[in-house]
Amino acid sequence: MSLSEITAHIRKEENRVGRPSGDVQLIAVSKVQPNERVEAVLSEGHRVFGENKVQEAAGKWPAFREQFEGVKVHLLGPLQTNKARQAMELFDAIHSLDRPKLANALARLRDEMGYCPDLFIQVNTGEEPQKAGVLPADADAFIADCRSLNLPIVGLMCIPPADEEPSLHFALLRKIAQRNGIEGLSMGMSGDYERAVAMGATHVRVGSAIFGERDYS
Ligand SMILES: *Cc1c(COP(=O)(O)O)cnc(C)c1O
Repeated sequence: MSLSEITAHIRKEENRVGRPSGDVQLIAVSKVQPNERVEAVLSEGHRVFGENKVQEAAGKWPAFREQFEGVKVHLLGPLQTNKARQAMELFDAIHSLDRPKLANALARLRDEMGYCPDLFIQVNTGEEPQKAGVLPADADAFIADCRSLNLPIVGLMCIPPADEEPSLHFALLRKIAQRNGIEGLSMGMSGDYERAVAMGATHVRVGSAIFGERDYS
C-alpha cells in the first residue's frame, strides 16, 4: 500500500463513523526503514513520523529536519531515564511514559529546559509481563501523579496483545481516558488502524502498511 491509500482509508473510516474529516493524525512509523523510503514519504508531503529508539532517531531526523520543514517526530518505544534528556531534545511527542521514575525525570528536565514534548501515557491493556506500560488498575493514580507534576499529558497509548481482538483493548483505553478527561488516544497499527479510528483513536501509528515490511537482517 502507500501513504495516499492509508490516508484515504482513514478518511473513509472517519466518514463512516461520523467523525470530522482529518480528525485522526497519521503517524508514519519509520523505524528500521531505509532512508530512501522515508524520504519518499516526506517528498509526498507527509510530516508526522514515529520512531522506536532514541539512538536510531538521532542518526536520522536532524538531517531530515534540515531538508524538510515542519517535521514532527514521535517516540513510540520504551524510554530509559538516562536517555530522557536526549529524547526531549529530539522528539515532539513521547508515547511511552509509564512509570513514576520517568515522570519525575521528565518533570525535572522540563523545569531545567523550559519546555516539554507532548506526553502520552502507555497502558499495558493486556497486562503482558514483557510489555511496557502502566497496568490498567494503576492508570488513574499514575495519571494523577503526572498531573501533579504539571506534565503535559495529552493522551493514552496502547499496543494490544498480538493474538487478541484489538477492539477490546481500544475500548479499555478509551474508557480509562474518558474517566480521566484525557482527549488523545494513540492506538491502531498497520493491521487494525481502521478499527482504531472507529473506536476513537486520535493518533494511529502505521509502519509496514506505508513503507513495506521492515528488514531487520
Ligand atoms: C513498530 C510500531 C508500530 C508500527 O507497526 P506496523 O505494524 O508496522 O504498523 C506502531 N506502534 C509501535 C509502538 C511500534 O513499535
